[in-house]
Amino acid sequence: MIHDQADYTREGEAVHEPLLSEKGEETVDVREESPLPDELTREELTLPAPSEPEIARHYTRLSQMNWAIDSGPYPLGSCTMKYNPKFTEDVAADPNAAVHPDRPDRSVQGNLELQYRLQEFLADIGGMDAVTLQPPAGAAGEFTGILIAKAYHDHHGNDRSEVVIPASAHGTNFATAATAGYDVVELPSGEDGRVDLEALEAAVGDETAALMLTNPNTVGLFERDIAAIADVVHDAGGLLYYDGANLNALLGRGRPGDMGFDVMHYNVHKTFATPHGGGGPGAGPVGVTEELAEFLPSPRVRETNGEKGYERFEPAESIGKVHGFEGNWLVLVKAYAYIARLGDGGLRDAAAKAVLNANYLAERIDLAVPHGPFHHEFAATAGDRDAADVAKRMLDFGVHPPTTKWPEMVPEAMLTEPTEIENRSSLDDLAEAFDLAYADADEALETAPNRTAAARIDQVGAARNPRLSWQALDEE
Ligand SMILES: *Cc1c(COP(=O)(O)O)cnc(C)c1O
Repeated sequence: MIHDQADYTREGEAVHEPLLSEKGEETVDVREESPLPDELTREELTLPAPSEPEIARHYTRLSQMNWAIDSGPYPLGSCTMKYNPKFTEDVAADPNAAVHPDRPDRSVQGNLELQYRLQEFLADIGGMDAVTLQPPAGAAGEFTGILIAKAYHDHHGNDRSEVVIPASAHGTNFATAATAGYDVVELPSGEDGRVDLEALEAAVGDETAALMLTNPNTVGLFERDIAAIADVVHDAGGLLYYDGANLNALLGRGRPGDMGFDVMHYNVHKTFATPHGGGGPGAGPVGVTEELAEFLPSPRVRETNGEKGYERFEPAESIGKVHGFEGNWLVLVKAYAYIARLGDGGLRDAAAKAVLNANYLAERIDLAVPHGPFHHEFAATAGDRDAADVAKRMLDFGVHPPTTKWPEMVPEAMLTEPTEIENRSSLDDLAEAFDLAYADADEALETAPNRTAAARIDQVGAARNPRLSWQALDEE
């Protein structure tokens, strides 16, 4: 059964939640001895004066105006919204976890051990030989990985100018290659949505520094020719980069390293249930094979030689730093806690359920193209409807819609990834919302959403003329 949005939303009307200051203010005396000059200090300050329940209600209501994985399914293909288990928050909130990163190695052995073990876990999961935890997001991991590839080629005196990327790849791949100074060679997808080997052979050559590949790819299809793809790239002297955003489908079942990849990133927020960065702290560790390990960012953590313990060190040909210290440490603590709690069996199980859920949903809504079987996600098409309209209408039926209009190779795409966290009844809710929205009248689609805290937003206006403060809104 599709359930209603929170009761306080009213059809066709935006919900107004007053500012705390609109509910009552109080002026307090803030005179104190201050080292600052008088013109920079004040004697009184007017502050909101809510009671404790008012504060709790205010923030609870605000939190309900936005969609959250804690309030319903969130099948955002490729962006993978996983539930963040609360026990990982508890682990990261342990005061012993938050130590100053400048403390000497001998006084933070527990933290270094955790970093070391996380490096080892990730290396093992990816089939890589060495890992850095430093990059702060998947995209930053890509950039780090391609800089490592560049350092490797430079070190061996190979002057190479191109990175090959399939047309279906995530936008960050193109941005990464260009930002690292490479020319991007775009590879058209084959008929079946996968890499076309002939097109690959034509695209790869003496100038190829690397091929960046997502496997399973961004429409949820496994690149079955991966061994042949790796041979083509390696025979030309290039490196194979694995975009780890879709690693969920392979956990405990297949390893990029075994497929021939030389360097990869891990999106811990997509695969290991840490919060999305969203402009705040995230993490995108990078794994590499033995030949590339000396180029990794500094510092890394290793076991000390001889006596028992751990130490930080700088790899011999390190590309330097891509973030302060060891990256966003507490996010990494959560990833460690999640992997340690699930163990080998739990990770394998998560992959199986992610794949099963995607295929169950694809089968139920019958809009997927190309046809499966899929891995952890699939692209549905809204056909002759506008994917964005269908998506907005889905919000009215109590679920968050999938990613829309991407990848571009699928017309009116709705890229859907339920993840392993949803059970059958919530997948059925999703399928029902898809079907209802897809079949709805034009007028209903064009005006949707009607039952959310904010009605349809002018997305172009919001991007082109953002009003970034409350005052700017007030002035109008
Ligand atoms: C999400 C994603 C990225 C970028 O990762 P962020 O952690 O969001 O920076 C790269 N490639 C693919 C395929 C993705 O889905």
